[in-house]
Amino acid sequence: METELFIGGKWVSASSGKRFDVLDPATGDVIGTVADGGESDAISAVDAAAAAGPAWAATAPRVRGEVLRKAWELMTERADELAKLVSLENGKALVDAKGEVTYAAEFFRWFAEEAVRVDGLVKNAPSGANRILVVNQPVGVCVLVTPWNFPAAMATRKIGPALAAGCTVVLKPASDTPLTALAMAGILAEAGVPEGVVNVLPSRSSGKVVSAMLKDPRVRKISFTGSTEVGRILLAQAAENVVNTSMELGGNAPFVVFADADIDAAVDGAMIAKMRNGGEACTAANRFYVEESVASEFSRRLADKMAALVVGPGTDERTQVGPLVNEDTVAKVDGLVRGALDEGAAASIGGSRPEGKGFYYPPTVLTGVAPGSAILREEIFGPVAPIVTFTDEAEAIRMANDTEFGLVAYLYTGDLARGLRVSEALEAGMVGLNRGLVSDPAAPFGGVKQSGIGREGGHEGLLEYLESKYIAVNW
Ligand code: NAP
Repeated sequence: METELFIGGKWVSASSGKRFDVLDPATGDVIGTVADGGESDAISAVDAAAAAGPAWAATAPRVRGEVLRKAWELMTERADELAKLVSLENGKALVDAKGEVTYAAEFFRWFAEEAVRVDGLVKNAPSGANRILVVNQPVGVCVLVTPWNFPAAMATRKIGPALAAGCTVVLKPASDTPLTALAMAGILAEAGVPEGVVNVLPSRSSGKVVSAMLKDPRVRKISFTGSTEVGRILLAQAAENVVNTSMELGGNAPFVVFADADIDAAVDGAMIAKMRNGGEACTAANRFYVEESVASEFSRRLADKMAALVVGPGTDERTQVGPLVNEDTVAKVDGLVRGALDEGAAASIGGSRPEGKGFYYPPTVLTGVAPGSAILREEIFGPVAPIVTFTDEAEAIRMANDTEFGLVAYLYTGDLARGLRVSEALEAGMVGLNRGLVSDPAAPFGGVKQSGIGREGGHEGLLEYLESKYIAVNW
């Protein structure tokens, strides 16, 4: 497998000659080393993207779409191989990795179809003096920065629409999981993406590298997925050259269960919303609010299902919950759980870090969590379900909205009117109504409040990579 930088269609070493290690989260052992891109490599990648830009923008949308469609076919053919790689470097269970690869490939298929749907507008000026003509053009060179939790899907969710719109890109993957991004660079080249259109730049000095690119006036967009903390830094840096930004940031999803809900469905939905990717998802249910009369039944049934999950190395076919990605993540989850226990919560399952090798944390259910606990305010990013009770709809909405985040919210109710009413009242970019999964390449994914700016997927995802140009014309 290639582990160099991918710049201008070629595999190249870092100009410094430096490399960094990639670890297996199940053991902490080194599984590979990758070229460590620096600032001058980043500028070389921008050179390549800028040089390839005009020809790619002028390529027929149908041709751009067909290249993306080919990339979808290749990813689908190699899904098992890619899933193993995702699981190896990220730690997630193979079943989750397979799900991710299918989801990731679907962004190429969806945006292959969207490439030919870039439209414009013509209308009469109200004065009658002229026509208003609007055309949509590619933004230009884009810097794409992705996290480690979905190393394949977060990359394709950006590369797909960028290429469909006619943009060229430099992708800076997370340094915990660069191997999947490099494998996808190979697939895109094989699918017919011309040299320089997609460049991939792993780096251990992400801050410096991204900042160097944002200072380059040829870079016209940054699309970032990651923590709100880093998103704020990048928004400030993008302000310098007034660079177009899309931000997919952290979440703190509430999962609300009303007493009139189908409890079987709510428990099944909770298992998906909480345990997909072992809880390492921005969409993961972070806080459970359950109406008092059904709280003990819901908590018991959720705990039973979570306790039955098989924990082990992600690459083992039997595993349902893999290790977390690294030591820092385990320490953070452990700290949040300890804090909640100190404040009076009880762990009905799990609740403490196991001894031994690897970055494991057991599925954990906490009841009696004190309002205001850090575990309800911060993103857990692990297999922990804190449960809080409520007494009426207004209280549920108030507690669900009591956060600076607003990515996704889940709610379960048997009353359709209540479902829609509460969906409208929840401050979130997405709502799962009687459903524990919202992600879909055909839907606009994104958050409100401090969870982000912009949308990925759907037709909206394409618009993020286009600029409207208005031409005032007489004819
Ligand atoms: P992160 O620490 O913010 O890192 C994300 C990416 O930014 C990585 O590539 C990282 O590189 C890079 N980075 C770090 N510091 C930077 C800086 N100063 N300037 C430029 N780039 C920098 O987030 P993470 O821990 O990888 O991912 C987890 C977070 O992502 C969670 O908050 C999760 O909610 C969020 N997320 C959001 C969505 C969404 O769609 N809203 C989806 C998935 C994940 P290094 O790896 O080298 O540090």
